[in-house]
Amino acid sequence: MQSLIEKDAIQIEITNACMNDCSNCTRFCGHFPKPYFMPLEDVKMAIDSLDDFPKMVGIMGGEPLLHPQFEQICLYLQQARPKIKCGLWSSFPKGREHYAELICNTFGSVLLNDHSLEPGIPHQPVLTAIKDYVSDESLMWFLIERCKIQRSWSAAINPRGAFFCEIAAALSLLFNRSGVDAHDPVAWKIEKGWWKKDVIDFHDQMRCYCPHCGMAINHRPRLDTEGIDDMSPGNFELVAKSGNVRKISREKYHIYNEGCADNIWFNSFRRNNFDYFAAIASRYGIKLSFNEIGYFKPELI
Ligand code: SF4
Ligand code: SF4
Repeated sequence: MQSLIEKDAIQIEITNACMNDCSNCTRFCGHFPKPYFMPLEDVKMAIDSLDDFPKMVGIMGGEPLLHPQFEQICLYLQQARPKIKCGLWSSFPKGREHYAELICNTFGSVLLNDHSLEPGIPHQPVLTAIKDYVSDESLMWFLIERCKIQRSWSAAINPRGAFFCEIAAALSLLFNRSGVDAHDPVAWKIEKGWWKKDVIDFHDQMRCYCPHCGMAINHRPRLDTEGIDDMSPGNFELVAKSGNVRKISREKYHIYNEGCADNIWFNSFRRNNFDYFAAIASRYGIKLSFNEIGYFKPELI
């Protein structure tokens, strides 16, 4: 496990609305009867809680540009943090091109993916619960302790609270039966300095979510374009109970039984296709170059 200070970014997940419907989406977009949009005051509180976090604060979704108060969120970020410490994760959807200047003025880094790369992008299943495949509990926790996603991705804030891992945050929303706004008892309160928690503080959240997650085991990825989510039998029941059953139809799910793959897909799928990212940015009249922290810096053409 990686402590939060070691992370490149902590995400504020302002919405789970998205115009795409990718297979094995890590935010489970398409599962929920309706998307959430974090109220502006809550987003401000989340930004304030990270004001002394020395790395990047990410604005993420779903698709964050669909948030009706995206402009106000950007203006608040501009006065709260230096540009180099603000990042935007987006697909630059059609119809939001007017945000180009605002984006360049607010974010030092943009991380773009519109999921149009041919023939598709591999998405490892999240909902293939490790506990449904690894019966030896010691081995299960051994694998979870070494989870590649927790070591390389972000911590996150969403309407359920603050979490050590962005996937745990998304699972909290998906399995929740009491509504998006209900605070998760194992989530941390969004208050100044919460990000200083260390690995020893993760245990309650790990016990609650990691056994239900498939990311610590190398299950076979599926292309984002396939329109199907992989699930383990136990998670299928949990999601059904939560009422967040995607598109109602069972045909949208595949009960996973394909065993493990090697993890070459994870190592080889580097976001190094500059032309792909540059083409997405150019739709907004934005050009990309590398900034001093190794991410893409956006500038108006
Ligand atoms: S674009 Fe991203 S957030 Fe939207 S459905 Fe695809 S993977 Fe999920
Ligand atoms: S197993 Fe899942 S929830 Fe646990 S740390 Fe890894 S990605 Fe996060």
